Amino acid sequence: MKFLEELRHIGKERALINSAVSLLAWDQRTFMPEGAYEYRADAIGYLSELSFRKFVSNEMDKLLEKMERERSKNHLSEYEEKVFRMTKYEYDIIKSIPPELLKEITIESSKTEELWSKAKNEGNFSQVEKRLGKIIELSQEMAERIGYKDNPYDALISRYEPGMTYKKLKEVMESLKTDLIPFIEEINDSRVKTSRDLLKGRFERRALENMCKELLETIGYDFNAGRLDETVHPFTIDISHNDTRVLTKFVTDDIGPTVYSTLHEGGHALYDQGLPEDYLWTVLRDGASYGIHESQSRMVENNIGRNWSFSKYLLHILKKHFPHFNLVDHMSFYKAINHVEPSLIRIEADELTYNIHIIIRTEIENALINNKVKVSELPEMWNEKFKEYLGLLPSNDSEGLLQDVHWYAGMFGYFPSYMLGNLYAAQLFSFLQHDIEDLDSLLEKGELGKIVSWLRKNVHSKGRSVFPDELIKEVTDEELKPSYFINYVKTKFSKIYEIL
Ligand code: ZN
Repeated sequence: MKFLEELRHIGKERALINSAVSLLAWDQRTFMPEGAYEYRADAIGYLSELSFRKFVSNEMDKLLEKMERERSKNHLSEYEEKVFRMTKYEYDIIKSIPPELLKEITIESSKTEELWSKAKNEGNFSQVEKRLGKIIELSQEMAERIGYKDNPYDALISRYEPGMTYKKLKEVMESLKTDLIPFIEEINDSRVKTSRDLLKGRFERRALENMCKELLETIGYDFNAGRLDETVHPFTIDISHNDTRVLTKFVTDDIGPTVYSTLHEGGHALYDQGLPEDYLWTVLRDGASYGIHESQSRMVENNIGRNWSFSKYLLHILKKHFPHFNLVDHMSFYKAINHVEPSLIRIEADELTYNIHIIIRTEIENALINNKVKVSELPEMWNEKFKEYLGLLPSNDSEGLLQDVHWYAGMFGYFPSYMLGNLYAAQLFSFLQHDIEDLDSLLEKGELGKIVSWLRKNVHSKGRSVFPDELIKEVTDEELKPSYFINYVKTKFSKIYEIL
């Protein structure tokens, strides 16, 4: 038990500092005056380095060595074994990256991000091309430091999705492309036409806020351990084990983005609020991976939020806050929230075409990290893939490869977790559906208690004690299989678009 006490002691110091960093970051993205930017960046930078040094230290080296020795003699308890395994995993990755390299990446990406924002506004990739080249070089160096078996890109993916490789992703992506691309074409050619028009209108900010609060309460978010505020780019931030905050956007001319950003972030927040107290002050009090975290948000947003039965209840909530929805029937509403239309912009993509956006980015990332494409050839590669997979061509770089900040911020390996989130969500939801017999009638009444309990038991309560592939195997008795997602979308959208 002595080891655990020492680990928890270090973990607690680190968590307390991180909690301050999170609160500063939350404030920066909500209420901080713009003029305070520079000082705030210094404060966050200083505290982040302090937190890093609490974790990566001689003390920690010795402690992990001692635990390793005890482990080889089978002296660790099951609990100690779990904590040791994940702490060591995280420690090895963090320690493999030299602080000078990390600092260089941080500085380079913050400069590139600034330039990206300008280039995006002007729709001109060439302005940021050279700097992106530098970020790629640094990411390649990082991959070498972290280490990998077959593909340097795997090292970058492992920072977000432990155990995942490009080889596995490629298999999944090929199967998605084979099934989904022709299916999307069938929907385009269907005689059934849908539209999002009835979601548009004028929505008062105050009423939007009240509606969002009701939505979060409906899904089981605990306002005693969190709050809701407004921001430009929605996100969820875990400040401490009893303070998980949701930030959403209030869009006043279209109800869709507000409803679905809130449900999405609410799904992330439910996960954080459901992490087990047992794991406090250890690395296990966290989500299993970025992909598993995204599965929780996408499940609430799509598998639940765009579900036939739940959408009846959702429409009922909308009618309460915006009386003009009284004129809208459920079928039209259901079709509007499930409208499929291939588009150029990822964050506006519907449930069916979204993964194609991620496949394009993942294939390009792999080519970049392996020097199979030059940075100058990127716009061409981007456009070719969009044409081939979605039949669309961006008219300028802002709607093309400048739309997302990820690459310019040095986040290579992050994109796949969005797709994995959708796939994990479908696989988990299929088992949830099987386990909860009266699911449809509960969804129709907006009673999500049983669903949340199922998620708590099968996903949330495990925290980060397992790797993502182990979690999926434990719950579904199978590895990740894209067929769950494919079957789910094909069943759902064939009905809506009357495809036989
Ligand atoms: Zn998310």
